[in-house]
Amino acid sequence: MRRAVAQVQWLLLAIVVVLAPLSYGYVQALNHDGARVVSRTTPARRPPLTARSVWLVVLDGLRVDTSRTLPALNRLRRQGFDGVSTAEIPSLSRPAYTSMASGAPPSIHGIRTNSWPGAVRVDSVFAQARAASAQVNGAANLSWWEGNHGHAFDAWHVVGGVADSAQMTAAIRRACAGFPRLGVVHLIDVDREGHSHGVGPRYQRAAERVDRGVANLLSHLDLSRDAVIVTADHGHRLHGGHGGPEPEVVRVPVVAAGQGIRRGSGRLPSICGIAPSLAELSGLPAPQSSTCDPFGAMLERKDNVWRQRYHEQQTELAAAADAQVSSGNVWRLSRRAFALLVVFVAGAVLWRGVRRVGVAGWLPVLYWVTTVASQAASGWPFSFSAIVTPRGFMLRTALFSVLALAAYWLALLRLTRGKSAGERQAAWRAAAWVGALVPLGWWAWFGYRQPLQLAPPWAMYFALFLGPWAGGFAFVAWCADVATALRGSAHNKRA
Ligand SMILES: [Zn+2]
Repeated sequence: MRRAVAQVQWLLLAIVVVLAPLSYGYVQALNHDGARVVSRTTPARRPPLTARSVWLVVLDGLRVDTSRTLPALNRLRRQGFDGVSTAEIPSLSRPAYTSMASGAPPSIHGIRTNSWPGAVRVDSVFAQARAASAQVNGAANLSWWEGNHGHAFDAWHVVGGVADSAQMTAAIRRACAGFPRLGVVHLIDVDREGHSHGVGPRYQRAAERVDRGVANLLSHLDLSRDAVIVTADHGHRLHGGHGGPEPEVVRVPVVAAGQGIRRGSGRLPSICGIAPSLAELSGLPAPQSSTCDPFGAMLERKDNVWRQRYHEQQTELAAAADAQVSSGNVWRLSRRAFALLVVFVAGAVLWRGVRRVGVAGWLPVLYWVTTVASQAASGWPFSFSAIVTPRGFMLRTALFSVLALAAYWLALLRLTRGKSAGERQAAWRAAAWVGALVPLGWWAWFGYRQPLQLAPPWAMYFALFLGPWAGGFAFVAWCADVATALRGSAHNKRA
């Protein structure tokens, strides 16, 4: 008897040890070095040079509605194009920078989270400029863009001040020197306030600061010769947070003016259309993995031959991506068959628990329902947008988990009162097994690593909870086993 208890304890301990890091690793494993995913093989054509100096301004985390309250941006809108584009999913910063630079969505370029601090290996419009010996400069008050794409730049000026500080003003002036063929200005103020305080007065004041940063950049440019595209990588929820598919998060402003930009307004395709648009304006070949539509409505159509060649490249890359997806079909189908098997086993374990201990056997299901319901009741979205700040997210999740586990533990004790020790153990072990099987089934169904097809946003998000949940179940069952063993030995001693 004791030996059996000890074996189950070790097994459950192993579940905790294996699943908790795997759950954390799920988010890391979403990233995939996209450089080798799909890449064109045909030589690219260069469009004629349209503008002397072309600038991309990324106002990190700026919502469309807030962008409409800013004087410099509104002046630019009247001079040129007033557009709204869509961020790709996951609507996180580094994936968005890489989409804008490479012209490909995260499913292709492979950067799906913010935990990719190093250089990305996928081709970018900036790397194309370097290859053509064209000058590329940048200025920012956050080092993230430099970390991912700085290797393709001639000069990056990263400073610590806010967007309208003397340091930032000087950094933008230095970046403009010599009118580089391509330039990037990346300002983080708005996103910081969004994460710390939500969309309120501080967010608005930060937006006004970055708007002055835009005015500063424009003071160095001549829009009869140069062009500027101002956009954001994502918006923010009212209480802060982004990463999911919520409309206020994925809708981003695109305001452009200058040489080669049409006057007008309208919806634009995905934000990854920035890269081919920059290429077309600055007379550069499109990046090798660029699959997204350029912002045709916003650009003056100058070279239909380039557009035709680019369209051929898109078709070639789409076919290559399709071929890779179908070559992975056998693996995906076998993973899904395994997932169904896991679901069947979990169902059988639950059924056995229900047969032996009645309603207490349903407790694992009740636990999941309670956790999801408490999250829904607290207004969290079921996506990465729930992560407003990593620390706050961890604290709230830990609190919910501890409360749910305590409720589960008390219900289990109450419902199994008067049952035999063997029946109680059956209930605890069934719960632990279901807890451990659910993450396995989830990962098998949606894929632990996802080369070209991404899981839906809610599936990516819930993967974060699966390891801790499994660990929690295993821990409760382990405590219960130990308690039973101790009570059993005390009973034996008395007897
Ligand atoms: Zn961002």
